Amino acid sequence: MNTSLIDLDRAHLVHPVASYRGHEQQGVRVLVSGSGATVTDSTGHQLVDGFAGLWCVNAGYGHDSIVEAATRQLRTLPYATGYFGLGSEPAIRFAAELAERAPGDLNHVYFCLGGSDAVDSTIRFIRYYWNVRGQPQKDQFISVEQGYHGASTMGAGLTALPAFHAGFSVPFAWQHKIPSHYVYRNPVGTDPQAIIAASVADLRRKVAELGGPERVAAFYAEPIQGSGGVLVPPDGWMKAMRAVCRELDILFVADEVITGFGRTGPLFACSEDDVVPDFLTVAKGLTSGYVPMGAVFMSDHVYQTLADGAGASVVGHGHTYSAHPVSAAVGLEVLRLYENGLLDNGRKAGARLMEGLMSLKDHPLVGDVRGRGMLAAVELVVDKQKKTRLPAAAQPARRIFDRAWNNGLVIRAFADGVLGYAPPLCCTDSDIDAILQRTKLTLDQTLADPDVRAALA
Ligand code: PLP
Repeated sequence: MNTSLIDLDRAHLVHPVASYRGHEQQGVRVLVSGSGATVTDSTGHQLVDGFAGLWCVNAGYGHDSIVEAATRQLRTLPYATGYFGLGSEPAIRFAAELAERAPGDLNHVYFCLGGSDAVDSTIRFIRYYWNVRGQPQKDQFISVEQGYHGASTMGAGLTALPAFHAGFSVPFAWQHKIPSHYVYRNPVGTDPQAIIAASVADLRRKVAELGGPERVAAFYAEPIQGSGGVLVPPDGWMKAMRAVCRELDILFVADEVITGFGRTGPLFACSEDDVVPDFLTVAKGLTSGYVPMGAVFMSDHVYQTLADGAGASVVGHGHTYSAHPVSAAVGLEVLRLYENGLLDNGRKAGARLMEGLMSLKDHPLVGDVRGRGMLAAVELVVDKQKKTRLPAAAQPARRIFDRAWNNGLVIRAFADGVLGYAPPLCCTDSDIDAILQRTKLTLDQTLADPDVRAALA
């Protein structure tokens, strides 16, 4: 059964962000079940999912109450459009519950299908916003190197990871970047205030280069850069960037697709950063990955501008599956679970994870350990002084992922030798201890890799 599934996959299923040839060679690993923080593959191999799927199954696997919420909604009304002035109870209630909890005046929620179309929707809303404000020349967008804002046609150009650009003819001419705060490798050093000052200066410089604030529509930032390697900015970075945007009348978009819903502790990382953006995007933990959904929060002034600007006309943006009632029903139940223990457990488990990962700092390969809450990374180097990355010959992404997998652990292994962690918030102490012990074993095996040994200082 398994062999034929592997063949069928090879022949027909196009995988996201994969080397197609590499994948054909390797063959798919099929996951068949999950419970708590554990997943099982089709050979019966059990693993602690240290990455919550794709940083999304924040609640963990196997919650009957989520399944029941979805089933109830599927039985009563599986679909209702939001077009024609129609709606459904779960979607309306979910929007209201979210608005009540969102930072500041982010009181208006547009539901979509995932993170990429949440970001894509913001681009459309922002263009519309400046057009109705009579400033169509404010059409330049700025994001941050190492940032990730999805893979939609327009969002991929705000993303700043080479694989999403090469061969795809993005970024577009209106999409620009400033350097990341990347503390471990920042040219200005590790002093938090110096890093913040450099980012502020970079943003001001970029705005000036583009012709001044009257040309710039928006600035996008993640509270913690996830896909860029879990890069945690110094405390105060988001707030400082937000202040520059406010001063220059540039819309500030906080992309919380990864950081939202307990990943860093609270429901929204922005509240910890004491920041109220003009737009905030979420997905992943919004429904804990049980069903697809994304959302765009917009602040009162944005919503009122769009509404007044359109007047009696429609704001022509929407999806068939906007505010899908089954996704909303799942989201409502997931939110209840977060607030009935999961956020608290995540904070506790996150502290244990961080303490354990920090204790690996003495390992010969560990250059940096960083994170917040249940979002962390370990960056490997072969020379701690020079911060030399693992050699490409050691195939860090493939081999480290495989070693961890064989040790019973799912992590994300980035190509540059960074190990990413985003376990479910339901992790028990023993789940966290298993993650740590299996990480240590994986590091020791990586140290024994001849291609790593050859490059060691
Ligand atoms: N924005 C951020 C910050 C993300 O991390 C991601 C996905 O990882 C996205 C947007 C895109 O979300 P999706 O993969 O659901 O389209």
